[in-house]
Amino acid sequence: MFEIPSFQDLQKYFVDCGPHEVNRTLESEHPGITGLAALLSPAAAEQLPALAARSAEISSLRFGNIIQIYAPLYLSNYCVNRCAYCGFSADNKISRRVLTLAEAEKEALILHERDIQHILLVSGEAPARLGVDYLVELVRRLRDKFASITIEIQPLETEEYRRLFAAGITGVAVYQETYDRTTYDEVHLSGGKRDFIYRLQVPAKAAAAGMREVGIGALLGLADWRLEGLALGLHLAWLRRHYWQTALTVSFPRLCYAEGGFKARVDISEHNLSQLIFALRIFDHDVGLLLSTREDARYRNGMIGLGPTRYSAGSSTVPGGYADPELEGEQFSVGDRRTVKQVCLDIRGQGFDPVRKDWDAVFQKPEDGCRMTDDGYG
Ligand code: SF4
Repeated sequence: MFEIPSFQDLQKYFVDCGPHEVNRTLESEHPGITGLAALLSPAAAEQLPALAARSAEISSLRFGNIIQIYAPLYLSNYCVNRCAYCGFSADNKISRRVLTLAEAEKEALILHERDIQHILLVSGEAPARLGVDYLVELVRRLRDKFASITIEIQPLETEEYRRLFAAGITGVAVYQETYDRTTYDEVHLSGGKRDFIYRLQVPAKAAAAGMREVGIGALLGLADWRLEGLALGLHLAWLRRHYWQTALTVSFPRLCYAEGGFKARVDISEHNLSQLIFALRIFDHDVGLLLSTREDARYRNGMIGLGPTRYSAGSSTVPGGYADPELEGEQFSVGDRRTVKQVCLDIRGQGFDPVRKDWDAVFQKPEDGCRMTDDGYG
């Protein structure tokens, strides 16, 4: 079982982090958790160009000159939880809907026509309205049209993830939001999500079910970002040790405006965000790093090649928002409103390849629920 030290205990990692430790870490192949602390420290903030250069070097060696493109597909904005920072919080008086299977299919086809091959199915946490049966049927309808279908929904049990994997879902994203127990209790006001320990174990359940990819992340703006970065590193390293067959990703959502008007408790500048991304890349060379449309076009263009490997594009955060862009009920305000085509053109303009497809459902043998073993597919 994964356990996270308190933020007070994590502070101790930063005590001896000076310029010497930062330089030593930049020259090391395997920085380890003390190296990650050095890269996240105030001393490393003074050396951001050196961090960027090392992060770019590793990214190029491991991934080549590519950015994978994906888009979220919001299925429902009903939620039984009250999370102070989220537009879907049960408290908020927003227009709510859950897409019918036909509506969801229509949204997916719009994305398909925009040449999106990787989709992320997203919903609030309201299992009575949208559960495993719904997803199995939707994926059955969609899986031949998309290279990969991943989910960001309510936490499930391993058996349920297994069923979804067999149906054709290849990845699961579950963000802890904050690894600081005190802050977690303060911003999760009611509902099952209040259980910090339970949520912490969910990525491992998805990996145990054989999911090809598992994503973790922290919502930046709730607590100290350096400590969140260290906690993310610990979680990542634990998942790597226990589920080495699973590809791992980390997301860096910065809080942005949402219904309810929650204000960030901690300011996270672009400089801070960049340091966090570079530090995670140098710490774990293979992790996929996501930079979503929460960030604006200027920043995302500036980060191409420096660490992130995956960008969302042309996103709507409203269920039904691709068919009807006027619909209300979004989860948060998108910062980058460029079309998929424009995002791809900008990536190409910098000499990088916007990759729409780097996986095919045929590899998965979905009907068998097979997963990769030491000798190939089991
Ligand atoms: S963050 Fe997730 S669980 Fe919390 S209110 Fe929003 S959709 Fe619901």
